This record gives sequence, structure tokens and C-alpha cells, in this order.
Amino acid sequence: MKTTESFSTKCVHSGEIKDSEGAPHTPIYNTTTFAFDSTEALLDVVDGRKPGNLYTRYGLNPSIRSLEEKLAALESAPSALAFCSGMAAESALFLSLGRKGIVCLADAYGGTLDLLKNNLGALGIPSYFVSGSDEEGLLQALEKKPDIVFFETPTNPSLEILDIKKISEISHRYGALCVVDNTFATPVNQNPLLLGADIVVHSATKYLGGHSDITAGAIMTSSELAAEISFWRKNLGQMLSPETASLLARSIRSLDLRVRHQNDSAMQIAAKLSRHPKIKKVFYPGLPDSQGHEIAKTQMRGFGGMMSVELNANPKSTVAFVDSLKIFKIAPSLGGAESLVTQPVTTTHHGLSPEELSRRGINGSMVRLSIGFESPDDLFRDLEQALEAV
Ligand SMILES: *Cc1c(COP(=O)(O)O)cnc(C)c1O
Repeated sequence: MKTTESFSTKCVHSGEIKDSEGAPHTPIYNTTTFAFDSTEALLDVVDGRKPGNLYTRYGLNPSIRSLEEKLAALESAPSALAFCSGMAAESALFLSLGRKGIVCLADAYGGTLDLLKNNLGALGIPSYFVSGSDEEGLLQALEKKPDIVFFETPTNPSLEILDIKKISEISHRYGALCVVDNTFATPVNQNPLLLGADIVVHSATKYLGGHSDITAGAIMTSSELAAEISFWRKNLGQMLSPETASLLARSIRSLDLRVRHQNDSAMQIAAKLSRHPKIKKVFYPGLPDSQGHEIAKTQMRGFGGMMSVELNANPKSTVAFVDSLKIFKIAPSLGGAESLVTQPVTTTHHGLSPEELSRRGINGSMVRLSIGFESPDDLFRDLEQALEAV
């Protein structure tokens, strides 16, 4: 696919395989292995002399290859790898390229923090946790010669914005790879590789899948780094099924339409909530007075469908608000058709000590919203009626 093509055209057409039957998109190659005409032809593929299909777990299956070409196009990357979950993508990434250490900036997904501290920690791989605004702390951590600087932007749940270009430059000065988890922003709104990052990770379970019905992950990067990560994916057995690959490709065809609608709805709802007397603070990078708005404007094309709000209410009333919502469903996860609500203290940040919560700016009056495809007017009316319970 030509790089001059616009994003929505890439979503629809990139990676699609033209088969002899005339299907307009790649069929599901529901097979674990592929047959050859001769031993010589098999060895050509096994020894890498010729490209071809071989074994699905290796990714050498047309449904998976087709998906990976589409994934690469989304982030303007030379290469992409598909995984059976976002955590599979992260674990393959850290084990293949991060064994000398990983710096994790700002708040990260709970599973990522657990993986870094407890799984990689058990293997003796060090992690350094630095707050998003602490440049001095980042420089000190880089003195330890880690392989990777990892972060999300916007972060969860405070929607903090980190400067991708600046952090990439600092990381590179110390010989570290800059890795961005782009799950919250989506490639519709932000392309970290074009801002200097080396690797992008996605939980495709969220916006790329977009319908809360598939679990998958993705990495977009250079062909050289993809080859190293792919070796670990293969032997850790982290491939997704051809059916899931096909469903994910199906979802990505509508990614641009979905996320632009979610951007617009979230912006309207955030603006209205910021004027509501029962709302103390709205965390949304699209609001002009939000913490990271100036940087967000330079690195994002839209501000996404995620926001958090702090209520003018105690934790008990906040639970009453959450329980009074009718359209928003109480569930972890994000990025799907249906709007979801969670309280960080009961889900993503459950179990953290009061000191740790306050250090991260999280409290029992905070609620995170994932804006779905419903009418933004209906969603705002639902929020308004639930605020009456406060
Ligand atoms: C959900 C999520 C993950 C983990 O993805 P899974 O697909 O659940 O394994 C990683 N990072 C972020 C930002 C997420 O929201």
C-alpha cells in the first residue's frame, strides 16, 4: 500500500490478499499447517530462502500475514507482529529486547506493572519506575543502562500527556529504545513512530478490536527489531488464531470511522461535564485547560474516547453515581461499542496503598469513562441523571 494513501483508505485496503475466488478481503485460512509439492519447496521456506506459508504458530499463514500488513500500515511501520493479547506482545517485547532493564514512565496498565515488577523481577530483569514529569529521575534511571524506556500517553486513569519526541531523543542519547503503548490514543489520533519512538505496542483488545469481543495484541516497529521479537513470540507460543486475525482485520476496516466518532462524542461530553457543578475536575487532553493540552495538540490529531472525572462527592456517593448509570456499563476495559464506567480504586488500581494512590493523584471520587458509539446526547443525559444521586 502506498504511504501517500490517507489513513481511512489504509484501514480498508492495506494488507488485503487478492485471492483467485474474487473475495474483496482476505479469507480465513483456517489451517494450522501448509502442504508443499516437494521436499525442496518445503526446505526453501523452512530455511528462509523463499517467503511462504508453513505453520500458523510461526505467523506463516495468509490470514495472519494479511493482518500484520494492515497493522503495520496503521502506524506507518515497516513491520508488525500480531499476538494473542496485549500482555503477550509486552512480554515478548521485554524478554527479547529488554533484558538489561526497563524504565517505566508515569502510570501504566496494571498488568504491565505486575509483569515488570513480579514476572520480569523474578527473572532478575530490573525495572525503574519514574513519574511522568520527572526528567531528572529519567536521566538517573538511564545511567543504569536499561534497554528500554516504556510509557503510555495518554496515561490511565489521569490522561496525563507525555512528550513522545522529547522522551525519544533523551532515550536515544543513552542508547535505549523508546517504546510507546499507544492503546489509549489509537493510530487514528497518534503515531509514535513518526515522532521518534522505536516501537509501538497495542492491546488490540481495546480500540483496534473495537467491539469488546476479541483479545489480541500488536507490535509495530522496524523489520530488524520485529525479527528479534518474532523469534520469542514463536517459541513462547503467543500467536493468535486465524479466526481472531480475520475478526481483527474486519474491525480495523472501520477503525477510523469509529474512533473519530468517539473523539467527537468524548470532546462534547468532557466540555459539558467540566461545567457541571457536581464535577470537580475533568481529565481529558482535549480540554484547553487540561495538564497536557499543549503537548497533546502537537502530537495528537484527536484526543480519544477516554476520560476521567473527579466528583464533588465522597467515595460512597461516587459509588452511588456509578451504580445509577443506565447506559454506561460497569466493567473494566475500554474502546468498544458500548460505553463503560470504572472506578480506578475498584479495578485498575485496586489494592494500591493510600500513599501510592495519592502519589498517582487517584482517589475514591474518581471515575473513568470509555465513550462508545451511542449518541453523545443520550450519554450526557445518562451522566446527568446519575449525578442527581450524588
Ligand atoms: C488492556 C491493556 C493492556 C493489556 O492488554 P490485553 O489485551 O488485556 O492483554 C496493555 N496496555 C493497556 C494500555 C491496556 O489498556
